[in-house]
Amino acid sequence: MMRGALGGPRVLLRRLREVMAEPVSAQERLDRIVVLIAANMVAEVCSVYVLRADGTLELYATEGLNRAAVHLTTMRAGEGLVGLIAETAEALNISDAQTHPRYSYKPETGEEIYNSFLGVPILRAGNTIGVLVVQNSARRTYSEEEMEALQTTAMVIAEMVAGGELEALANPASGGTALRRPLMLTGVPIAEGVGLGHVVLHEPRIVIKNMLADDPAQEDRRLEEALLALQASIDVLISGDGLGPGEHREILETFRMFAHDRGWLRRLREAIASGLTAEAAVERVQSDTRAKLLRQTDPYLRERLHDFDDLANRLLHQLTGEAFTLAAGSLPENAILVARAMGPAALLEYERSRLRGLILEEGGATSHVAVVARALGVPCVGEVQGITSLVEQGDAIIVDGSAGDVQVRPQSTVEASYAEKARMRARRQEQYLALRDQPAVTRDGVAIDLQMNAGLLVDMPQLSEVNAAGIGLFRTEILFMVAPSMPRAEAQEALYRAILQSAGGRPVTFRTLDIGGDKILPYMRKVEEENPALGWRAIRIGLDRPALLKAQFRAILKACAGRTARIMLPMVATVDEYRQAKAMVERERAYLAKHGHPGPRDVKLGAMLEVPALLFDLEAVLKAVDFISVGSNDLMQFLFAVDRDNRRVSGRFDTLNPAMLRALANIARMASEAGKPVTVCGEMAGRPIEALALLALGYRQLSMSPAAIGPVKAMVLGTDLGAARAAIGTMLGDCDGCASLRSKIAAYAEANNITV
Ligand code: PEP
Ligand code: MG
Repeated sequence: MMRGALGGPRVLLRRLREVMAEPVSAQERLDRIVVLIAANMVAEVCSVYVLRADGTLELYATEGLNRAAVHLTTMRAGEGLVGLIAETAEALNISDAQTHPRYSYKPETGEEIYNSFLGVPILRAGNTIGVLVVQNSARRTYSEEEMEALQTTAMVIAEMVAGGELEALANPASGGTALRRPLMLTGVPIAEGVGLGHVVLHEPRIVIKNMLADDPAQEDRRLEEALLALQASIDVLISGDGLGPGEHREILETFRMFAHDRGWLRRLREAIASGLTAEAAVERVQSDTRAKLLRQTDPYLRERLHDFDDLANRLLHQLTGEAFTLAAGSLPENAILVARAMGPAALLEYERSRLRGLILEEGGATSHVAVVARALGVPCVGEVQGITSLVEQGDAIIVDGSAGDVQVRPQSTVEASYAEKARMRARRQEQYLALRDQPAVTRDGVAIDLQMNAGLLVDMPQLSEVNAAGIGLFRTEILFMVAPSMPRAEAQEALYRAILQSAGGRPVTFRTLDIGGDKILPYMRKVEEENPALGWRAIRIGLDRPALLKAQFRAILKACAGRTARIMLPMVATVDEYRQAKAMVERERAYLAKHGHPGPRDVKLGAMLEVPALLFDLEAVLKAVDFISVGSNDLMQFLFAVDRDNRRVSGRFDTLNPAMLRALANIARMASEAGKPVTVCGEMAGRPIEALALLALGYRQLSMSPAAIGPVKAMVLGTDLGAARAAIGTMLGDCDGCASLRSKIAAYAEANNITV
C-alpha cells in the first residue's frame, strides 16, 4: 500500500498534534495541516472549505490546487461534491468524481485532472461548518482507516473554527464564518424586558483540551471505566428514590437503554481506535449522531436527540470529572443564561443581580421555570430551537422577552437599537415609580383597588416596591412546583407564615393548590389524561384526595393566626363543590380551636369563577361565597373552547369580544347586587386596555403581575370613569356580531388622553 511508507493514520495524528502545538498563525496552521494530510495519504490535493455567514463554502487552505484561489473560490450551498457533503453532513468516498452528477468544475483551482475524491464534513454539535477534502488523479478508493483519520482531523479543525481562530482569515465580503455569524432567532415571549449580555451555558459544554491520544489502549480503559460508572449511576437513580427534580423515570429508562446500546459503544471504540482521546471520541460520535438525527423528520427520532445529548454529556462529565452544571455563585456580570431546559429551583440558585436574561430551547410560557423567570423579572424567551448548539460560551447575545426575539452575536447597529430599547424601558419604569405613592383614583374620584399576583417568596418584595394594596392571588402550587418533594403540613405553614410576614399588614389571598392540567408536580405520579385541562385538577383533586386539601387548609389557618385568613378555591364548577370545601375549612377551624391552636380571627372563603357553568348559577354561588375572583385566563379558555397554551388557537379570539364582556358585565352586576366583593385576577386585569374595559363593566378590584401595576395605575389616573362607562356601554350595545371592541376602546383611550 502506498500509505504504508508514510506511516498511515497513526503517524498523521501524531504529526497533527505537533502542528497544533506550534506557535504559528491560524492560516499557517491550516496550511501545514493540508500539507501534512496530503503527504500522509499520498494525495495530490487536500483542501479545507469553511461555511461562511452568507451560506457559501469558502476555500480556506489547499495543497495541490492553485493557492491563489484560497479565500477567493467559493461553492454555493449544495453546489458540487463539497456542497453535497455540507448538505448531507455525510462523508463521500468516490473513485470517479468527474462523472458524479453533482460534480462542479472550478477552473481557477485547476482541479480538472482529479478523479478520486474523499470528503468529510467538519461538524460542530451536529451542524456542518465546513468540509475537508482529499483528491487524487489516479482512480483509487480511500480506506476506512483513512476516512477515520480525515474525520478526526476535521474535528480538530472544527475546534479552530469554534474558537474563533479563523475569523480574521475570512474573505472580508463573506461576513465571517457561519459558525460565528450573527443570528436572529425567535421563540415564545415568556418574561418581559430586554437584556444584553454574554452567553452562559447552564450546562457548560466540556472544553476538550486534549483531542489526540498517545496511547489508545489507555483511552479504551478510561472509556470502559467511565461507562461502567455511568451505567451504575443510572441504575442507582432508577432503583432508588434519589430522583432529582426533572429526572423522570422514563427518561432514565431511555438512558439505560442507550448506555447499553451496542452500536453506540462500537462507534465510541472505533473513534478511539482512530486516535482520539476518550472524551474527543464521545464528542465525535455525538456530533455524528446529532448530524443524522437533525436531518430526521420523524418527531420521535428527533426527540431521541436530546436523550443522546444528555447521555453523551453525562459521559463527558464522568470522563473529565467536571461539574455537571455551573457552580452557583460563579456567574459573570451581564450573564444571559442559555439552557435546553431548566428546573425552577435551578434558576433560583443563580445570583439575580448578575442575570440579564434567560433563553430556553424547550421551556414554553407555562413551564415552571417560566413562572420563576417572571417572578424574578428576568427577561426570558422560550422554545428557541437549537439555541444551545448555536452559541458558544461568552458569545454576545440579546434577549427581548417582550417580542420573543433573540439576537446572537449581534452587529453593532442591532446592539445599539436594543440598548436604546432597554434604556426606554428603564425610563418608563422610572415614570411608573414616580406614580408609586399616588393613590389609584380615577379623575372622577373612584378609588380602584390594585392588587398583585404572586406565587413565590421572591415575589413578595415587589409588593411594597410597586405599592400594591395586597396579594389578590397567591398561586400556592408554584411553591409546590419548586420544592424538591411534597412540602409537609409544617413546612407549608412556615412558608405561608413567611409570605404573610413579608406582606406586612396587607391582605394575602391564598389560592389552594391548582395542580393537574399543565401544572404537574415533579414528585407526584403523573396521571395520563386525554384532556388534562378538563381532567382531574385543582379543587377536583382536593375533594377526591381530602388529605392534601385538609393539610393545606390547616397550614393556612395556622399561619393566619390572629388575622383574617383569605382563601380561594380554583376551578369550582358547582355550588356543591364550594360547600364541601367550606365544610372542610370549618372542620379544620374547629379542630384548631379544640386543640388549643391559635386560629385566624376570621375566614373569608372565595370561589374562582373560571368554569362557565357557574355563570348560570350565579345567584346561588353569590349567596354561598364570601367573595368571587374571576380567573379570566381559564374562563376565556372554557368559554371559547380554546386551549390557552396552544399557540395555534390561543390568539384566535380576543378577550375584548362581546360574549366575554357580557359575561363579565353580568358577574360584576350580580355581585354588586348581592353585596359580595368581586375581583379579576387573570392576565387581562394587568393589560391597561382590558383593565379599562373591566372598570367600565363595574369592577373595582383587579389583581395582576407586579410589572403591570404601574401601567394600569397610569390608565386609572387618566380615566374619567363615568364617561368611560357610558362610552364602552354604548360600544357594547352597538356591537352587532363584532369580533372585538379592542380598536374602539383603544381609539377612545387615545382621544381622551388615557395612557393604555
Ligand atoms: C385564571 O385562570 O385566570 C387564573 C388567574 O388562574 P391561572 O392562570 O393560575 O389558571
Ligand atoms: Mg385558572
